[in-house]
Amino acid sequence: MLTMISKPKFFDPVRHAYAKAKRRKKALKLLRARDGDTCWRCGHPMRFDGAPNCGKAATIEHRLPLSKGGSWALENLCLCHVGCNRHLGAHPPEQKERMRCNRNARPDTRAGAPKPG
Ligand SMILES: [Zn+2]
Repeated sequence: MLTMISKPKFFDPVRHAYAKAKRRKKALKLLRARDGDTCWRCGHPMRFDGAPNCGKAATIEHRLPLSKGGSWALENLCLCHVGCNRHLGAHPPEQKERMRCNRNARPDTRAGAPKPG
């Protein structure tokens, strides 16, 4: 008789949700360390506490959407507001780059913000 590695026979939504939340939390931490606390699209600061669906909450944006073959590799991810992420949608990466707001047109006056140029 063949011995096989036992795979779960049923889709376990609890285990799936737990794994998804864990992956999201880890990615958020790594992206925050890499990119800081500003939105990739608009350049404004994000909130990492409070309601996950408030306007300034941080979400993970896939530059190449998962629906178009994108992955969870860090090179494909960046941080965006909920609204900005929704605005970017599942457009191709080149179009998303064009949809970014021009950060140089609006000077960043926050304390400790990187100086342009
Ligand atoms: Zn934004």
